[in-house]
Amino acid sequence: MNAATIASWMREINASVRAERDHLVQLDAAIGDGDHGTNMTRGFEAVVLALGQALDADPESPPGKLLILAGRTLVSTVGGASGPLWGSALRSGGRVLGDQGSFDGAQLVEVLAAALASVKDLGTAAVGDKTMVDALEPAVEKLRARLTDGATVEDALEGAAAAAEAGMRSTIPIQARKGRASYLGERSVGHQDPGATSTALVIRALQKAVVYQNR
Ligand code: ADP
Ligand code: MG
Repeated sequence: MNAATIASWMREINASVRAERDHLVQLDAAIGDGDHGTNMTRGFEAVVLALGQALDADPESPPGKLLILAGRTLVSTVGGASGPLWGSALRSGGRVLGDQGSFDGAQLVEVLAAALASVKDLGTAAVGDKTMVDALEPAVEKLRARLTDGATVEDALEGAAAAAEAGMRSTIPIQARKGRASYLGERSVGHQDPGATSTALVIRALQKAVVYQNR
């Protein structure tokens, strides 16, 4: 995996959050302020543009640098909670890769683990608080576990994407303890968390990007 993997991942995220924009808006309208679909769409549109410019200027841009640029772009274009959270996640993930030109599955786990750590650090949410952590943490754990068991990166990412989707659904019956939805108290029960939903799209996008690249 290399810079092209990261560029393709960001394009896949952009396409999927755009396709699911109205759904993400509806989910956020139910327990937040209804901007999550537009936040994610605006942010990843800007990320794709920024990465395109960076790769035009320097086709040898390393993958870590692209992730850091993606994170910076999210922070500067997205006002809601998801901008700083995903922004610091991608920057932390990018820092793990330094200037290296390619990375393997074990390093991908470290990238995503750093991203998760940074989300938890900034947002102080744990699994069960009804946030994006409910999708991201099981995805990172499943990726690590499958790779440790000797699975290919593609199979491990399929497991990670499925784990994120299960984590997303697990937010429905629980009460929000972090973010805007927590203001609703018990009334947040019965609704799927928008951030966990877009996080499942982000992990599924990574799985697709790697599968397409290896074809
Ligand atoms: P805002 O809540 O500022 O309008 P968004 O609508 O873009 O921002 O994003 C909302 C999502 O952000 C929530 O569904 C939740 O998953 C995530 N989120 C909010 N606060 C936190 C937090 N403290 N830690 C982790 N994720 C959070
Ligand atoms: Mg919102």
